[in-house]
Amino acid sequence: MSDTDDSVREIRINPIVPTESVLVSTARGMRPKQAEERIERDTRAHVETCPFCHGNEDRTPPQITAYPDGPDWQIRIVPNLYPVLGDDSSQKNMAFGLQQVIDGYGRHEVVIDHPNHGIAVHDMSREHLASLFGVYQQRMAELYESDKRLKYVLVFKNFGPAAGASIPHTHSQIIATPVVPDNLQNEVHHSREYHKKFNHCIFCSLIDEALTYEATIYDRESGQIRRKVNVGQYVIERGERFVAIKPFASRFEWEIHILPLRHEADFLKASAEDLDDFANVLRRTMARLDKVVGGVQYNFFLHSAPHGSEYEGCGDSYHWHLEICPRTSIPTGFELGSGLFVSTVSPELAAQALREADPEAD
Ligand SMILES: [Zn+2]
Ligand SMILES: [Zn+2]
Ligand SMILES: [Zn+2]
Repeated sequence: MSDTDDSVREIRINPIVPTESVLVSTARGMRPKQAEERIERDTRAHVETCPFCHGNEDRTPPQITAYPDGPDWQIRIVPNLYPVLGDDSSQKNMAFGLQQVIDGYGRHEVVIDHPNHGIAVHDMSREHLASLFGVYQQRMAELYESDKRLKYVLVFKNFGPAAGASIPHTHSQIIATPVVPDNLQNEVHHSREYHKKFNHCIFCSLIDEALTYEATIYDRESGQIRRKVNVGQYVIERGERFVAIKPFASRFEWEIHILPLRHEADFLKASAEDLDDFANVLRRTMARLDKVVGGVQYNFFLHSAPHGSEYEGCGDSYHWHLEICPRTSIPTGFELGSGLFVSTVSPELAAQALREADPEAD
């Protein structure tokens, strides 16, 4: 890519959280931050010494649950050996002037996604992925049910060392907290404001726009309308019930969000049929990513309506989704200091490349 006239340099405002923005700069000068030396991912199928592989079940803390239960489990949940939050204390808030501390109360669990040590999401079957998200759903519901102090259950996955995975066996994590994380609060707050103003869900509006947006091309000489094209330029993959979209203000070059086409704020309400279509859209999206980026390492996380009285009534304005953030570059002092993410690939070109890749090719 050369630093020609078609390079983009612009600040894009996140339409959902307008206080967040990204700098899209495809100019060559921004390139040194690309992570050139990537640590490769462990892709072996079975590792004798791995605590998450079949046969080593006694090397993890006692399991919380497994599907199916027994030596042939396909998905297994265990407590995190090094939890960032513990469940052994009562929640107390301490305030020191402007500094507030909320005791590190909560739950931290590990979901072993698949018996195959190094399998990537796009190599898992549709059925397996549907079960995996069904397991997330069930565990989230159990945690909310078990302890009313838990206000948010975050499900996320770090895939590959570049994304912060410390154990190479494919796994995801569940962290339940007594406070709603800032990112969620912001999304809920701003989508509620939008709903107050326009009586419509902003996520639904963005999906509609992505699916139906028409560009009008005018004739330069006459000024007459030459043709209308259905751009759909941010749509990566469309299923019957879900759509994968490249965000207009992507923080990460290859960031993709998957959302239900029908309005729904709560992931816990997704049906088995929903999860089946979701699994297909996810698998095909990840296959496209892998074709374009090659051995992609990423974080993904689920955003769904939080629990707690102050979030009642956000069912009309919030819309659950999965955010997939591939890690192709390392945030620098500029990003940390400014809070402004820099994307060196134009979201439109990234979307086009992803759309043109064949997810079923070998
Ligand atoms: Zn393993
Ligand atoms: Zn909606
Ligand atoms: Zn989100």
